[in-house]
Amino acid sequence: MRKKIVAGNWKMNLDYNEGLSLFSEVINIIKDEITGTQEAVVCSPFIHLHSLVQLAKGYNKVSVGAQNAHQAESGAYTGEISAKQIKSVGAEYVILGHSERRQYFGETNELLAKKTDTALANGLKPIFCIGETLQEREAETHFEIIKSQLVEGIFHLDEASFGKLVIAYEPVWAIGTGVTATSEQAQEIHAFIRQEIAAKYSQAVADATTILYGGSCNPKNAAELFAQADIDGGLIGGASLKSRDFADIVKVFN
Ligand code: PEP
Repeated sequence: MRKKIVAGNWKMNLDYNEGLSLFSEVINIIKDEITGTQEAVVCSPFIHLHSLVQLAKGYNKVSVGAQNAHQAESGAYTGEISAKQIKSVGAEYVILGHSERRQYFGETNELLAKKTDTALANGLKPIFCIGETLQEREAETHFEIIKSQLVEGIFHLDEASFGKLVIAYEPVWAIGTGVTATSEQAQEIHAFIRQEIAAKYSQAVADATTILYGGSCNPKNAAELFAQADIDGGLIGGASLKSRDFADIVKVFN
């Protein structure tokens, strides 16, 4: 059975102490209550990673991730951070291809393919984000867009490497807007993604791939979204900044 995951994306929020407090609160609420194959992941700013990994020790279903990593192994890239550096503090995951990185930092599918390779080569598990903009949905090109993000971003991977990925479908029009995709809209795209994975790799690989939904997910709508056959959890932005809300979403699978 594929893994159910609820991952928080703190984005560029919380100073060092605020981050540690929030994480401790979340652990306190969820520590005895994560059942099944579920995993809670918190993707924090880089400054928190090392300390969060220390706080998460002993809780084997709570993991820590970064929100970006550079495509090069190391070198003269002032201000950047490498996958190896992230891994060295004990983080397990890295979000790649978030729409804010695509939009504000010009990250292309081609670049993201390289970032994915480097992250995997350094033992990180990418949470690879894909999703269409409002204009693309209105123009009814969303299936094409999703397919090209898959093909150009991650379908070059061999089966073993692909098996380490988590995919997050995040319609750009639903991120931070308070507008959530309906459970039918989300399920339709998740099923499409799984079908594309089956066509490229195999049904077994498709069935084993965790596909998260992201976009204004909150404690009120999470249960309905996560009840869909092809939705295996969520990538949570705004609601991950409130310990009770994030914990309530994590506990949807219980
Ligand atoms: C995100 O940033 O990945 C996200 C889903 O944000 P929000 O939940 O705030 O829409």
